[in-house]
Amino acid sequence: MTDELFQSIRSAASSHAWSRAVELVRADAVAGERQEENEIVVRVATRGDLISPTVTLFLDDEDWDCDCGTSEDVCEHVAAAAIALRRASSQRQDLFSRGASHGRIGYRFSREAGGLALERVVVTGDEETLLTTTLVAVASGRVEGPRFLATRADLSIEQTLGSKRRGRVPRGILPTLLRQLAECPDVKLDAEPVVTSAAEVGFVALVEDDDGGFRVRVARDDSAAESFDNVAALCGKTLRPLQTTRLTGREIEDFTRNGKHFAADEAVRLVTDILPALAERIPIEVRTKRLPTTVREQPRLEIEVSRNGEALSVLPILVYGDPPIARIDAGRLTPLGDGPLPRRDEAAEEILIRRLQHELALLPGRLLPGRRFEVSGEAAITVAEQLERFSGKLRGSVHKQFFRAPQLEARLRGGDGRFDVVFSSDVDGTPHHASSRRVLAAWRAGESLVPLEGGGFATLPTDWLTRFGDRIADLLAAKQATGDLPRAILPELARLYQDLDQPLPPSLKGLGSLLDADGEIPQASLPEDLSASLRGYQRRGVDWLCALRDAGFGALLADDMGLGKTIQALCALRGRTLVVAPTSVLFNWRNEIERFRPGLTTSTYHGPSRRLDPDADVTLTTYALLRIDAEILCAEHWDTVILDEAQKIKNPDSQVARAAYRLQADFPMALTGTPVENRLEELWSQIHFTQRGLLGGRRDFNERYERPIGEGDAQVTARLRARIAPFVLRRLK
Ligand SMILES: [Zn+2]
Repeated sequence: MTDELFQSIRSAASSHAWSRAVELVRADAVAGERQEENEIVVRVATRGDLISPTVTLFLDDEDWDCDCGTSEDVCEHVAAAAIALRRASSQRQDLFSRGASHGRIGYRFSREAGGLALERVVVTGDEETLLTTTLVAVASGRVEGPRFLATRADLSIEQTLGSKRRGRVPRGILPTLLRQLAECPDVKLDAEPVVTSAAEVGFVALVEDDDGGFRVRVARDDSAAESFDNVAALCGKTLRPLQTTRLTGREIEDFTRNGKHFAADEAVRLVTDILPALAERIPIEVRTKRLPTTVREQPRLEIEVSRNGEALSVLPILVYGDPPIARIDAGRLTPLGDGPLPRRDEAAEEILIRRLQHELALLPGRLLPGRRFEVSGEAAITVAEQLERFSGKLRGSVHKQFFRAPQLEARLRGGDGRFDVVFSSDVDGTPHHASSRRVLAAWRAGESLVPLEGGGFATLPTDWLTRFGDRIADLLAAKQATGDLPRAILPELARLYQDLDQPLPPSLKGLGSLLDADGEIPQASLPEDLSASLRGYQRRGVDWLCALRDAGFGALLADDMGLGKTIQALCALRGRTLVVAPTSVLFNWRNEIERFRPGLTTSTYHGPSRRLDPDADVTLTTYALLRIDAEILCAEHWDTVILDEAQKIKNPDSQVARAAYRLQADFPMALTGTPVENRLEELWSQIHFTQRGLLGGRRDFNERYERPIGEGDAQVTARLRARIAPFVLRRLK
């Protein structure tokens, strides 16, 4: 205690503080705590107060401090300290001697089964008195006990101990207690002085080489030499709280004791998944050099968008890094390349997956990274709209093709033998086309959308298809491999143009009169050598035959027997003509030609010495010879071929029918009184001879006409009637 410091305190103290300080010194309230070269610490026991303020005097700096919390520059405690120290030095007393009258609180730990026990003692000189009650009780005088000076820390510790003031320390309070004891100078463990610290002794996860792979083992930090009841540990001379484990039960089972082995090929999972999860809770100490290196990367979502036919194919991918260094497949991390691996963040992954499912609003649980799914139709358009707003990265842009285009419009195109229906949708001023085959298939299947060439999906023109779809389908079915329409189909095509109010292409204009039954057929000029007068209906029949002939078509004249089919045929034949008739009527034909067309020369191809006369106007033969001499008769080119009693070729599989189909004629004509006796196929056969292609192939005819008509489909019956009408004429008696 220097004079200078004493004078400084004296002059800064208020008179009130100074007089109270004098009283404290008289009451022997000041006790030395410790004395060093530049610093003196004393305690001042104030009457009635439990806590003794601590005064520190700084000799070199002529400064002071008191922990009583006063706002005064010099409090009574600082003044008392100055007076007491000055008096002690003049009277040669020792304030710091062991015999000081005030005890201090000491803390005594002992090792007990199941943990640490604690006692508090009052240390006075060499004497230790066990404290069995509270500091408050002793200080107030309610309970007899040694005098002591308590610190704030002593009081806090008493609060922490609560009612459990002696004996084994409850597990829950030990960490707090060790923190508070760090401020207390007199702590012993079984008579050995120790210090305490709030710094926790932790766990560490060790990763070591192990039999070609790795071993992960959770162990206590090495510095803990001795632990007590899993709550505290002695590290050298310091008692520290043990970190409470934050491992899961499963992890404790896996990693404590001997730890867990991981094979070499599990290194990726170890560094990206298992170790990062542990590292969030305990330090990791890697004692192997063989682990792959890792980096901190955020997971990201990418969606690979592609097109599979008419379907939109979507593959969400969960990756780390940009560009990606790893991908998550079915919950496992797959490295992409040889670089460092990302540490997995499964919580962040989960958030991304939820966002994915939210933004694409599909079935929850269905949309998972690494799992491809495909959608088509309306759903594809919806998904494409959602992809457009997706917040992650898209790979590919093919989803832009999945949008709703305006309804399709149909237009016929072609005419001179070629034909197609053009379906198009106006997409921002550009026509996008749809294949007519696809449109009809979608219409039949009851679908509502068809894909467009160039992108987009358009709704079907359903009303239009209801009116014309079947006829369009017939025309498309009749189209030959070359894309050309058979000539027989052209009237049908022309009628469709008319029904659609589209102008007829020039090549179809000549067909006008054949298109409907009430049409005016131009009057034909009759042969000059004709020596017969025709009845009215016969004259109309001749006009009809000649109109077909001049337009390049064949004809099936199916008038009832006795209405004069022969005379009508004789008026319409032109050029070199072959007549095939049953043997029984062969000579009747010869007679009628001589009688009604005396200008024509005839030759009968019949008998063992038969030969073709190239100069005869009309060659007569039989169905038997057509079958036998097909090679000869089919090698010739005929201007007109007439099959009389044409039901003879009703079976398309018969040799005679097949021979008839092969005859080459500019004007094929079939005469019959009974075009259909049993099966509709008989009609097909005769029309296949006169107007090949009009009814398509046999199988096609069976499916589209014969079967539905057999089942009583009136619409199909009407369609067949309309189709053959221009080429078949039948009057009844
Ligand atoms: Zn004070």
